[in-house]
Amino acid sequence: MTRTVGHWIAGSFVESGGEVQEIRSTVSGLPHVAVATGTVADVDAAAEAAAAAAAGWRWFTAADRGRLLRDIAGGIRANAEELAGLEIADTGKVRTTVLGEIENSAAYFEFYAGLVNLPVGDVLDVAPDQHVFTRREPFGVVGVITPWNLPLNQAARAIAPALAAGNTVVCKPAEPTSQTTVALARLASGCGLPEGVFNVVCGSGPVVGEAIVRHPLVRKVAFTGSVDVGRTIGRIAAERIIPLTLELGGKSANIVFEDADLDAAAGEAVRAFVTNAGQVCSSGTRLLVQRSIHHEFVGKVAELLHSIRAGEHYGPMITWDQFEKVKNYLNHAASSGRQPVVGGRPADDAELAEGAYVEATLYADVDPDDKLAREEIFGPVLVAIPFDTEEDALRIANDSEFGLAGAVFSRDISRALRVAERIEAGQIGVNTWVTGRVETPFGGYKNSGYGREKGIEALNHYSQLKCVIVRL
Ligand code: NDP
Repeated sequence: MTRTVGHWIAGSFVESGGEVQEIRSTVSGLPHVAVATGTVADVDAAAEAAAAAAAGWRWFTAADRGRLLRDIAGGIRANAEELAGLEIADTGKVRTTVLGEIENSAAYFEFYAGLVNLPVGDVLDVAPDQHVFTRREPFGVVGVITPWNLPLNQAARAIAPALAAGNTVVCKPAEPTSQTTVALARLASGCGLPEGVFNVVCGSGPVVGEAIVRHPLVRKVAFTGSVDVGRTIGRIAAERIIPLTLELGGKSANIVFEDADLDAAAGEAVRAFVTNAGQVCSSGTRLLVQRSIHHEFVGKVAELLHSIRAGEHYGPMITWDQFEKVKNYLNHAASSGRQPVVGGRPADDAELAEGAYVEATLYADVDPDDKLAREEIFGPVLVAIPFDTEEDALRIANDSEFGLAGAVFSRDISRALRVAERIEAGQIGVNTWVTGRVETPFGGYKNSGYGREKGIEALNHYSQLKCVIVRL
């Protein structure tokens, strides 16, 4: 019998009307969990619980809010084994990856626990007979819609700053990977978070997700996922005049100049697209290599890839739809006569045969206009593209609908900083793939979205500014 996951509303499990969606593991091919199919009525109940809790939560002292968030961080660490078990069951990820994500999730709560007194206001010098000041206030109920690629981590990334800024939350996790978000809500409740402050409604995006964005009590939405759904949500938010944080896709360029430390850069190039089987929005999936070293550098990356194994170093595609999507790109490459330098197929080891595993794949000498080089594949697929000059590299890097992240590898620090400034993206690594640390503001240029998650910056996106003018 498979386990059933219900919603978490007003501090209790709610099983909805009994309808469930069975999820088939992308490791074994077998059903492993049944997730409650949320309805508009469930979203109503969650939004009402969150609105009822909002008045109390925003007037908690900052110190008390901070203490609770710190306790949640401690709770995540204390329950890391249980959370890891659930996350591994839902995603098939390798254990070390999951443990890193769980620690990162705790770090979000810890970081924002330390920032509960922010954001602060200003006193404005306006006129001798006026005392004018600004203060930041919560929105009230914030909707959080998360994807399946880093389920607990993405939830913590949005929920911790939303709560720190004094909001309450209704969260919808991606249906196949709901377990850790529900577990987090239960755990937070066990730490003393008042009922209704953090609610979770499971179910599908078109039903539960849209109902959250449309709900009159929801005053801000944070969404992480695809550009298409970002657009859909954006249209609804425009009608409702509510603010959004959109963290969407990417096709990030890692630019390697001939003077770089090539061995170090090759290691980072591999880490940048193999981590989480390439199912990371900031994956460095376009490798721009100066033509003079293109052949040598591709050889170094290929050599490293020969020792990377699906199932051992990274997990499967996390959904069956994603597996189909990645296979379609590999088929496109094969049918257009492109030979991979490494990989190019689903992994065919006997023990992985029932799962959705893909070999780490490298294509070299790819035309920047090929769809492999333009579209977000969201799998362990890297395209190497030669360039001649710095201007050439920047032109190719910026000729993309996306602008989430990027990196530059060079021993010439002036050039590295010049290029870092000119890549049109929200987070840039210099001689490193971008890090995942909680302190670093993260978000997109262009179709990669707007608003920022992480860092102190996120707090501004989970609060609104009021100006108070006092006649003296
Ligand atoms: P989606 O954008 O469909 O899913 C992200 C979240 O949005 C899920 O919780 C989903 O629910 C929900 N959702 C779906 N439709 C709606 C809607 N109409 N209104 C509100 N919420 C909705 O991404 P996919 O899972 O389909 O992945 C497709 C592609 O998106 C990937 O191949 C990748 O390119 C990109 N992606 C980017 C991510 C990032 O981190 N920026 C993360 C994941 C994917 P549910 O799935 O439960 O129905």
